[in-house]
Amino acid sequence: MKIAVAKEIEVGEHRVALIPDVVARLVKQGWEIWVESGAGEASCFPNAAYEAAGAKMISDTDYLWREADVLLKVGIPKEEEIHRLRAGSVLISFLNPLGKPELIQKLAEKQVTALSMELIPRTSRAQSMDALSSQAGVAGYKAVLIAAAALPKFFPMLTTAAGTIRPAKVFVIGAGVAGLQAIATARRLGAIVEAFDIRPAVKEEVQSLGAKFVDVALEEDTVAEGGYAKEVSERAKQRTQEAIAQHVKSADVVITTAQVPGRKAPILVTEEMVAQMQPGSVIVDLAADQGGNCAGTEAGKDVVRHGVTLIGPINLPASMPVHASQMYAKNISTLLEYLIKEGELNLDFADDIASSTCITHGGEIRNARVQEALN
Ligand code: NAD
Repeated sequence: MKIAVAKEIEVGEHRVALIPDVVARLVKQGWEIWVESGAGEASCFPNAAYEAAGAKMISDTDYLWREADVLLKVGIPKEEEIHRLRAGSVLISFLNPLGKPELIQKLAEKQVTALSMELIPRTSRAQSMDALSSQAGVAGYKAVLIAAAALPKFFPMLTTAAGTIRPAKVFVIGAGVAGLQAIATARRLGAIVEAFDIRPAVKEEVQSLGAKFVDVALEEDTVAEGGYAKEVSERAKQRTQEAIAQHVKSADVVITTAQVPGRKAPILVTEEMVAQMQPGSVIVDLAADQGGNCAGTEAGKDVVRHGVTLIGPINLPASMPVHASQMYAKNISTLLEYLIKEGELNLDFADDIASSTCITHGGEIRNARVQEALN
C-alpha cells in the first residue's frame, strides 16, 4: 500500500502531513511512504531528511496523486487536487465538511474514501488522533505572542529603579483547547488573566491555570452533543454581553476563541465594548475566519477601531509549522496505524472512530449534517 504525502499548495500553508521522524517509524514497520519533493521545505524538513527516513521522493505531482493508495494532506484540497485523485483511493486531511459540503460531494462523486481530520471524535480513546486539539493549542499559544508583540506595554509586573510596572490584564473569551493554552501562555508571560466560557464545566480548568473564571448564570443548557457549546438564546446572548462588558473594558488584551461548530461565530465583543477599552489595547480574534467574535474584526488583517488594534489572524497553526506539523503527523499516523492492518484499510463502521471520521465511501456521503447542508 502506497501512502503519499502531498505538498501543500495553499498560500501560507506551511505545514506538512508527515515529518521525517514519523516516516522513519512507519517505514520501519514495513510501510511504503512516498513524499512529494519539497513537501516539508516550508516546515523546515528538507527532502534529504525524508530520504534518510526511508521515504521515496516523487517530483511528479500528477503521478503521486494518481498512484497513491492513501493520500495525506493538511489543508483542504483544491478542486485541481481532487481531479487528480484516483477512484478507490483514500484521502485523509482537514476537509472543512460543514463549511464546504460541495467539496465533500465532489469527493463522493469521484468514488474517493475521504477521512476528515475535523471529525475525529473528541474522546479519550481518540485523543492522540485529535488534530483539532493539537492545532488549536498552537493557535492559542501564538495568539498571546501576537497580542504581546502588538501591545504597547509589558505583560509582566516589573519592579525597577525606574519605577514599578503593573502587569497587563488579559481576558480570554472561550476556554476550549485554544483558550486554555492562551491562558497558560499569558500567565507564563506574567499577565493577570480572566476567562469566560458559556460551558460552566471549564471553570476548574481555568482556575487550575491561575486565571479567574467570570461566572455568568445563564439559566439554560449551553452544552451540546460531544461537549461542544450550543448556540444559545438571544436572552442568554444579551446576558453574556452585559456580564463580560466590564471585563473587556478593563482588559489590555482580549483573546476571543468562541466557536460553535458549523455556524457563524457569535459576536461577543460589540463595537460599544471596543470603544470603552483604553487606547493601545489589543484584541486577537481567533474566530476571524468564521466571521469573528468581535464586531469590526477583518479576517487576515489588523485594523484599528477607537484606538484599539483588532487582529484577525487566519490559520495560525501554519505560522508555527515545525511543531504544528510534528503534532499533526502524530495525529494522522496514529489514525493510520489504527485503521490499516497488514497493508489493508479496515473501515469498520461499527467503530466510532472510523464511522465518524469517514465522510465519503463507495460514492456516498456518510454524514447527515453534510447531506443536510447540500439540500
Ligand atoms: P471550540 O473551538 O469549538 O470553541 C472554543 C470555546 O468557545 C469552547 O470552550 C466553547 O464552549 C466556547 N464558546 C462557544 N460559544 C461561546 C459563547 N457564546 N461565549 C463564550 N464561550 C463560547 O472548542 P474546542 O476547544 O474544540 O472544544 C470543544 C469541546 O470538545 C470541549 O467540550 C472540549 O472539552 C472537548 N474536547 C474533548 C477532548 C477529549 O475528550 N479528548 C479533546 C478536545 C476537546
